[in-house]
Amino acid sequence: MKLYSTRNLSEIKNPKDAIIKGLSDDGGLYCPKYEDIVAHKFDIEKQLSNDYKATAKLVFSIFLDDFTGAEIENCINLAYNKNNFDEGNVAPVSKIGDNFLMELYHGPTSAFKDVALTILPQFLTTAYKSKGENKKVYILTATSGDTGKAALSGFKDVENTIITVFYPTDGVSNIQKLQMQTSEGKNVSVIALRGDFDDCQRLVKEIYTDSEIKNLCEENNVVLSSANSINIGRLVPQIVYYIQTYIDLVNANNIKLGDKINFVVPTGNFGDILAGFIAKLLGTPINKLICASNDNNILTDFINTGIYNKKRELYKTISPSMDILVSSNLERLLFLLSGNDANFVNGLMNSLNKTGEYKIDESLLNKIKEHFVAYYATQDECKQTIKDAFKNDKRIIDTHTAVAYACLKKYGHYEPSVVLSTASPYKFARDVLKCICDIDIDTLDDFACLDKLNELTGESMPKNLAALKTKEKRFDTTLSYEESKKFVISNIKK
Ligand SMILES: *Cc1c(COP(=O)(O)O)cnc(C)c1O
Repeated sequence: MKLYSTRNLSEIKNPKDAIIKGLSDDGGLYCPKYEDIVAHKFDIEKQLSNDYKATAKLVFSIFLDDFTGAEIENCINLAYNKNNFDEGNVAPVSKIGDNFLMELYHGPTSAFKDVALTILPQFLTTAYKSKGENKKVYILTATSGDTGKAALSGFKDVENTIITVFYPTDGVSNIQKLQMQTSEGKNVSVIALRGDFDDCQRLVKEIYTDSEIKNLCEENNVVLSSANSINIGRLVPQIVYYIQTYIDLVNANNIKLGDKINFVVPTGNFGDILAGFIAKLLGTPINKLICASNDNNILTDFINTGIYNKKRELYKTISPSMDILVSSNLERLLFLLSGNDANFVNGLMNSLNKTGEYKIDESLLNKIKEHFVAYYATQDECKQTIKDAFKNDKRIIDTHTAVAYACLKKYGHYEPSVVLSTASPYKFARDVLKCICDIDIDTLDDFACLDKLNELTGESMPKNLAALKTKEKRFDTTLSYEESKKFVISNIKK
């Protein structure tokens, strides 16, 4: 599968090289062509006996076709096992009201990012070994909360790699912060960057594309790579659970083979929902992908009007992993639906950089609307949804899942729908508790909140969160944008 820069069709990589590189030098994202995806459309009826690993193997052998079958199986076995996921179950599906919840939070850090970030280090080291080079891979990661910890966990003490995570000061929940600050491993570092998530993401993209830093890396035998969803190795694993969920729903007689279903996706950087779109192109019977946003509703506006305008305030919400204005993976959707028109995408991205906005025409917008609808839920609607789900559906959902569930209700649909549940409610225990009980939460510390949630719901507490209480805080550095860049440079020279 050839992967092209979304901004320049003559920049082409095979999957292994694209995974190592992360982002193209021109700032574009590596992406297959539309017709190359559709050419691999398969008959889902023939896949009904698949378990998660078998579907993963199917998807990986399509997109990562320079990996051998044995390499792919090895990566899958190292990632999707009982050590990483509760009972080895990556994406169990359960009921919520008349709909379904895809529980993606049973991994080592209790967020859906684990599904991709348990396997990305395996892909990367496999790709790297087959090159036979002796370079150090330096992973830079911007996080709005969940990616950071999942990447730190996935890359902990992985041979020949070092990793630095940047999170925005005050932009993440206390539990998320603590998860990152207590990270173990000789090769990891964590920086609080003075700014918001978009600053973190901009920093990382700027470092990748800086020619001086590029030279410095060459002198020091370092290659920069990314664990963000700009890396194609992050995106591909996320395709699997859409297909597998469909298979599981058919096998449990919840839907009939061929029935079209909706997926509701709490969206930030647009990576997760884009994976759903690719699953649809591969033949999964999907009606609509429902793009759910919080008060930062830039994607809702874009999908409804065709105008992407980032000249607006970024609100801090109780669903911080979705507090984003520049959704990187939207670039891949624009590439795919414009007929792989890299010049066109490049123009839009230049316009976004220069003027803070871009606009697409009616015909492209209609192509997007064929597959996507978009809604947003305000902070109050999100809180009410957590309360209602607890009372009516007897389900306890986190603040991100609640945004999606609220958006599903706005959609008012007839087809069966699956809400992607992207984080454990324990990760946002304080905010969730405030919605479901009347006691004064402000007097409780974060650990008392975890216990209280446990007491009220009886739902088991993730082991990694319970263990935070006794872990040493190793990282407590706050840096400015410029200082962060210097920090990276000094690590390259080490
Ligand atoms: C990252 C994240 C999202 C958003 O996913 P994208 O792929 O960035 O759109 C939603 N919910 C949670 C809990 C997350 O961590």
